[in-house]
Formats: sequence, C-alpha cells, structure tokens
Amino acid sequence: MTTQAAPKPALKPNLPARPRAFSGIQPSGITHLGNDLGAIRNYVALQNKGVAEGFETIYCIVDYHALTSSHDAEALRQRTIEMGASLIALGLDPDKCTLFVQSDRPEVTELCWLFNTVTPVGWLQRTPTYKEKRQTQPDDVNHGLLTYPVLQAADIVIYKASLVPVGKDQAAHLELSREIVRAFNARYGETFPEPQAVYTDAPVVLGTDGARKMSKSVGNTIEILAEPDVIRKQVMGMVTDTLRIMRTDPGHPEACNVCQMHRFFGTDHEQIWDGERTARTGCVDTKKLLAERIIEHYAPARETYHRLMADPAELRRTLGKGAERIRPIAEATMTEVRERMGLR
Ligand code: ATP
Ligand code: MG
Repeated sequence: MTTQAAPKPALKPNLPARPRAFSGIQPSGITHLGNDLGAIRNYVALQNKGVAEGFETIYCIVDYHALTSSHDAEALRQRTIEMGASLIALGLDPDKCTLFVQSDRPEVTELCWLFNTVTPVGWLQRTPTYKEKRQTQPDDVNHGLLTYPVLQAADIVIYKASLVPVGKDQAAHLELSREIVRAFNARYGETFPEPQAVYTDAPVVLGTDGARKMSKSVGNTIEILAEPDVIRKQVMGMVTDTLRIMRTDPGHPEACNVCQMHRFFGTDHEQIWDGERTARTGCVDTKKLLAERIIEHYAPARETYHRLMADPAELRRTLGKGAERIRPIAEATMTEVRERMGLR
C-alpha cells in the first residue's frame, strides 16, 4: 500500500475588501502640466472617492527609480521635498491618502528581487522606456534601467493595489506589471491582484515642442507651480499650428497643441478654435490667453506650494508618517510572500 501525502491546503489570497489605488511619481524635476492633466488629477479624484467609498489610496515619490538617471544626492533630497509639496498643493491630503517616499519603505526592494526571479530578461529588454534610455544616456545603461518595471510592479502590489492612475506612457510598464503578477501567481499561488491603469481624459499631453510627450527629463515642460513669468515664457515658446504660415492663414485647432490645451482651461475652447479657424485670432493671442489661464488656475496651488516649502522639515516628517502608516501592509505582504516561496 502506498501512502500519499495529504495535499497542502491552498493558501487563500489575502486581498483587500475594496480595490486599493497606488501610483508613483519621480522626484526628477518640477511638476508639469502633463503630470497634472495626465495623472495627478486622478490621484486626487481617487483619493476623494476612496474617502467616500472606503478604500485606501497610496501615493509614492519614487526616489529609488530616480537613481537610475541621477546620482546627485543633494538634488534628489531637495526634489523629493519639492514633489511632496507639489502633490499636496495640487490636492493630495496626507490625512485622506497615504503619501510617502519610496526609500522610506524598503521592503519593496526585497519584493523586487523576488519578482526578478519570475521575470524573463526578454520582457524587460523589450520595454520601450529601456530602449529609449539606452539612447538618451548611453554612458550609464545601469541595471536599474532594465529592472525598473520590476520595481514598479513591486511598488504597486506590495500594497495589494490594483487601481493605478497614470498617463498613457505607462501603459507598457503596467502591462508588464500584470505579466509579472501572473507569473508569480501561477508559480506560487494567487497572491496579488492584477494592476489596471486608470486614465484621465488627457492621457498624453504633448510638450512645448508639440512633438514629444511633455516630460521632466526632456525639458519640454510647462511648470505649473513656477512663477508666472516662467510659465509665460514656456507657453509663449510653444510650437503651435505648423500648417499656418501667415497670420491671415486659417488655423487648424485640431493639430495645434495650444488649442488642445485650451480644452482644460475654461469652457470656451470652441469659440477659441473658431477664432483660429477663421484667422480672427493669431497663435500669439491664443498662447497669451492660455498662459494667463494656466497661471490663474494654479494660483492657489502655487501659494500652498510656497507655504509648504517654507518648512521643509515639517513636510519631510509628514512624508515619513505616511511610510509608517503603511508599514503593516508591506510587512504582512512580505511575510505572506516568503511563506509562499518557502523562505523562512
Ligand atoms: P521623467 O521624464 O523623469 O520620466 P515625467 O515627466 O515622465 O518624468 P513621471 O514622474 O515619470 O514624469 O510621471 C508621473 C506621472 O505623470 C505618470 O503617471 C506619468 O504617466 C504621468 N505623465 C508624465 N508625463 C505625462 C504627459 N506628458 N501626459 C500625460 N501623463 C503624463
Ligand atoms: Mg516618466
């Protein structure tokens, strides 16, 4: 007679009762219009929905990620504080959501390593951002650039989050996060939810060059919390309707980045577009108006930003408290993961 070992009881996935939201932003420069229209507006909307409906929202300033491109420690610390102030100024409330600095919760690096072991290198080599960074920083193709999406997957799911407010540029990374989670769940049992992107109605905001995505590292940004004159200069430098040569030529608002941005500031963009089409208004007029509207729209946030930046130590404490608040979630996930993987 052969004796068979009794099958191990399947571990139940320890998932939150309501889906959690998580997103990360790099402290790689000053917050720009693309960040706000494409992502931060949704951070705030989900934060408020979370309060009303009883789910957690967690936002992270991803300084580990920023290290793949910058090694200036002083600048990184400064930008981390500035990003914290920007996010609060733009509507995050540390009492309603958890706002923290990635390196304050280092458990995520352990999860990243464990995820590395279920992630084929080929998946990472195909990532568009990795291919792009190999071109833009050929002298510093560090391993972190390759592993970046694995750490991103760990960032999200260590908190068992599944709603991820991001811009469209993150679509490929999120797809990879889902694949990594599936690979882990298939090998070790259902542990993590699959993350889903949550987009705004402006998932890709073009930069002032009118060609590439607005991006801190490209430098084609409109820095929404900067001084009014900086914003004026950035907006006035925007590439507009390239088909319109003379002031008297009819404009093409659908192909003009400035006209498109008017959709988010005021309710009269149809009239503005009509003025362009009929050449009643010129590109310069439309840009001037846009600059003033952006300045006005972000005036209260700019004020809050400066108030918060006047006491950086207090701000850093607030961010530190956020990391403490979610310590139990990160620790519980790691205990569960180690158990599933047969460690300890
Ligand atoms: P970097 O150039 O350093 O990558 P970034 O400007 O792309 O910086 P991130 O910190 O990478 O900013 O992105 C923060 C969030 O803002 C992400 O969710 C990203 O998808 C979103 N985002 C960034 N740029 C845009 C844009 N131009 N349009 C829409 N969403 C954007
Ligand atoms: Mg980016």
